[in-house]
Amino acid sequence: MSRSAHPAGPRHADVLTEGHYSAPPADLNALDPKVWARTVSRDEDGVLTVGGRTVTGLAEEFGTPAYILDEADFRARARAWRTAFGTDADVFYAGKAFLSRAVVRWLDEEGLNLDVCSGGELATALSAGMDPARIAFHGNNKSVEEITRAVEAGVGRIVLDSFQEIARVAHIAQGLGKRQKAQIRITVGVEAHTHEFIATAHEDQKFGIPLAGGQAAEAVRRALTLDGLELIGIHSHIGSQIFDMSGFEVAAHRVVGLLKDIRDEHGVELPEIDLGGGLGIAYTSADDPREPHEIAKALTEIVTRECEAARLRVPRISVEPGRAIVGPTAFTLYEVGTVKPLESLRTYVSVDGGMSDNIRTALYDAEYSVALVSRTSDAEPMLTRVVGKHCESGDIVVKDAFLPADLAPGDLIAVPATGAYCRSMASNYNHVLRPPVVAVGDGEARVIVRRETEEDLLRLDVG
Ligand SMILES: *Cc1c(COP(=O)(O)O)cnc(C)c1O
Repeated sequence: MSRSAHPAGPRHADVLTEGHYSAPPADLNALDPKVWARTVSRDEDGVLTVGGRTVTGLAEEFGTPAYILDEADFRARARAWRTAFGTDADVFYAGKAFLSRAVVRWLDEEGLNLDVCSGGELATALSAGMDPARIAFHGNNKSVEEITRAVEAGVGRIVLDSFQEIARVAHIAQGLGKRQKAQIRITVGVEAHTHEFIATAHEDQKFGIPLAGGQAAEAVRRALTLDGLELIGIHSHIGSQIFDMSGFEVAAHRVVGLLKDIRDEHGVELPEIDLGGGLGIAYTSADDPREPHEIAKALTEIVTRECEAARLRVPRISVEPGRAIVGPTAFTLYEVGTVKPLESLRTYVSVDGGMSDNIRTALYDAEYSVALVSRTSDAEPMLTRVVGKHCESGDIVVKDAFLPADLAPGDLIAVPATGAYCRSMASNYNHVLRPPVVAVGDGEARVIVRRETEEDLLRLDVG
């Protein structure tokens, strides 16, 4: 790095031991389209616009912090997944990434199905009018009440996660005079995260039934004998934020191996396999996600090849992207409150939200990028850490970020790619109120999840 590229203020070279931002980006005002929602750009005054609205206007109308969601981008990504997989496969949006009634309606209109993993998510989906037959119900500890509600509602499938649950769902369905369609979730010993996967991952985790030791085969044996269940397939989900398809290749090989064993033992060819979600998105410019059509092609080829080798009919494939659909479509808009330079370390930029609206940095050491969005600046880059307002030193939103050295209280900054696992994981820590989700498009903005109020907080506190 040349001398002139040194940021103003505190030196940054010795404090950065990891992360992508070991050097400031060439242009701090540039908005990398990889990490921003598709309709984002800057207007002639340098103000960021999305869906035809300026962030300054949005902040004025809806306050900060706020999640700003680009509806056209959400729909385009949902449609791209749907189109990529065609009519021979199903795309289930993983509702846990972010779910609201508006989202359910968009998914419905774009022809996607929906994964839920709790009674609350199921209630949201049903209240928005989603066809229950297009809902899959997940979870490692669904309650009797949740299972009963799902079976009664007529969900398209329940994904069975344990031996006890196989018996429980069968019993409940039989009691209701129903035969519930179900898949069995297995763990195939593959764990994938970002650019690596481990093919021999130990199965020491709470989800699924291990393929190892014949446990998955035993689960299938039991499910096939129960009148309350119609076993339609096998489910596998191998990780999150995955860029490398080779983990799916090993997983598909092992799932198809089980299908073959089932055919050999029971004379039954199960009609479906679900390969889960976990496809990665760009949080920073260093990430290079794949397009849905590439993923669809790769997965379809892998499954087809494995089935041909095993002389099996190719089952109907389903996938469950959550992050890859909603993640890139939203950013969190914050107002800068304090700017605190720490001599020879870095500058701490405090915003009006924090770990209560984005727990991912604290929880997973996640990396994000950030930009000044209420104006452009020609000031030198300064190394910052963007932190929240919570009473917790781990309350970090963006660990290492370069922002212009003239950053000041009242500026708006935005953290892109916060559509997934931010609002859905938001908390009330410190009794901070959860931000709204504002959907924008065609110059219009509308609140799809409103900001929490002190009244909301106090309503739960019954004294
Ligand atoms: C979390 C989860 C998903 C979605 O994962 P993303 O990383 O958001 O794509 C899909 N399927 C299952 C079973 C999950 O637990």
